[in-house]
Amino acid sequence: MQKLSLILIVIILSSVSCQNSSPKQNKYENHENENISFTNPSPYDIISVQQPTGKAVKNVILMIGDGMGLTQVSTAWVANRGKLNLDNFPYTGVMRTYTANKLITDSGAAGTAMATGQKTNYHSVGVDIHGNDIPSLIDLSAEKGLSTAVVVTCGLTDATPATFLAGNADRNNEEELALDFLQTQANYILGGSRTKFNKREDERDLLAEMAQRGYKVTSTWEETKSLQEEKIFAVLEDGQLPLAPERGTIWQEAVMHAISQLDKNDNGFFAMFEGSRIDDCGHWHDIPALMGEIFDFDQTIGQVLQWAEKDGETLVIVLADHETGGLTLLDGQIDAGSVVANFSTDGHSDIQVLVYAYGPGAEAFSGTFENTAIFNKISSLLNLK
Ligand SMILES: [Zn+2]
Repeated sequence: MQKLSLILIVIILSSVSCQNSSPKQNKYENHENENISFTNPSPYDIISVQQPTGKAVKNVILMIGDGMGLTQVSTAWVANRGKLNLDNFPYTGVMRTYTANKLITDSGAAGTAMATGQKTNYHSVGVDIHGNDIPSLIDLSAEKGLSTAVVVTCGLTDATPATFLAGNADRNNEEELALDFLQTQANYILGGSRTKFNKREDERDLLAEMAQRGYKVTSTWEETKSLQEEKIFAVLEDGQLPLAPERGTIWQEAVMHAISQLDKNDNGFFAMFEGSRIDDCGHWHDIPALMGEIFDFDQTIGQVLQWAEKDGETLVIVLADHETGGLTLLDGQIDAGSVVANFSTDGHSDIQVLVYAYGPGAEAFSGTFENTAIFNKISSLLNLK
């Protein structure tokens, strides 16, 4: 009898282990859809600001966390032991992100909607559904005499910056997008994609051409950080800027440097700053890297808010263009800064995203709206139309 039970147990165990060892029908490379645990070893302190009163909007700062859905924010909030600089925003809204021809967006169609006020096709950047160029908030602000900036951690010809500075029906035509930079009037441009400007099939050196257009062209942060020139074109990497651990505080410093340069203009300014690599970490299902990117983004938000509080005439908007990875926060401990999370896709999801607003005009960003409303609200507050 004992022998029979033992045989039965062996059979049951072997069938269980057989199920477990069968090849998984799972497309995810990194984690095979398993729960991921992470504990944040070094939480940071957050700042506290008061909403200014009695002044009109002079400047607008739009900060985009690429792929930073509400779960990404929630996970970062727990991992930083129950606090983020994002907690300071007095107004929040809910934004829908679908494109003209596809429910689940990419950064191209999402960025185009926010930059130009038009929903366009999946993978289009800065053009309408017929491929026609449409002016962006950067173009319209520059025409009105405002100073403008785009500062990103990705390549400059990557989707989000391209929607503000260039235009193409296919975001993959990056060498064509680079040519459009010869038309932009933006004052401060910083990111990567160097090879799209100087190792091109047509053998043109667009960095030299940008210098001829009056831009101070740089290739390192060291040579950029003290510049006072009115036009700065900083292309710091062949591809994207490195991830947060290697990047250090470069993006934070660049954002604050850009603000100090733009603020010299009495007409005001419009700036788009993107924490671009939050999205990559979502695609990779890499929670530690994802947290590093959001912490860098949120610490920059803290510095921007402190500057905006002193200024009193600056509207700061923080939002995501879409969610990446279908992240779910399953467990965790706030006091330990630990989280347990899981991803459901290696692409983007269609969950609506949050919009955070601070400063004069911030109340316009509460409620539920389309991503095109970002363009409409900003252009109306800055009298661009
Ligand atoms: Zn993505």
